[in-house]
Amino acid sequence: MLEGVVGHHTADGPTGEYPSLKVVRDGRADLAGPLCNLGLGRSGTVYVIAAGQAWHAGASAWSGFTDLNDEFLGIEAESCGTKDDWTPAQRDAYPRLVASCLYYMSRSAGRFCGHKECALPTGRKIDPAFWDLIAFRTQVGYLLADPLTRIPKGGEELPSIDDVRAVVREELAIIARRDDIGWARSQVLAALGIAKPSAAPPSPPSGTKPVQQQLDEIHDMLSGIVAQMSK
Ligand SMILES: [Zn+2]
Repeated sequence: MLEGVVGHHTADGPTGEYPSLKVVRDGRADLAGPLCNLGLGRSGTVYVIAAGQAWHAGASAWSGFTDLNDEFLGIEAESCGTKDDWTPAQRDAYPRLVASCLYYMSRSAGRFCGHKECALPTGRKIDPAFWDLIAFRTQVGYLLADPLTRIPKGGEELPSIDDVRAVVREELAIIARRDDIGWARSQVLAALGIAKPSAAPPSPPSGTKPVQQQLDEIHDMLSGIVAQMSK
């Protein structure tokens, strides 16, 4: 059963459409392939790399699942990872690709995570770099709110990350007053550059909801907000 999607960057060469094809398909000296299920080239083209289990996530946890390789699809998008070299085509296609996978799985935007969010121990990975993943999930939530109209390329334009953040900032005053979502709230504020990031607590402080439930609630809230933007 497919339960979600993990987003990565390839950390390969600075030019070319998808120079990582061979390594993600065949693996490296220390890790046999396939290393992902889908690839995303600089033109926005999606490459099918492998069916079945791919070795993309390693030790990992998200949304109540652990060691995500067998339950989460892995997408390796082409980027050098050391500077923001994402193309406009990738900025448009990556959320649409994730949304289409989740639509097929009947799962919500909260089932998408970046490798940097799910890798254990925390901080082991930085990919996908130069993506605000809370805003990314919000875009995915927007697409999933009317999937057949919104997901196809060339259909509706995605709300830009800046649009999403402007709306989210207005809602933050409400979120910031809720005391049942403490850690998740601090993550949202950090992602928006309003507060310093805080490490996940080893266990939820008493009186707060489990961390994943906090995050799910915030993602649902933000997705709802953005879904209303076009109405
Ligand atoms: Zn990765």
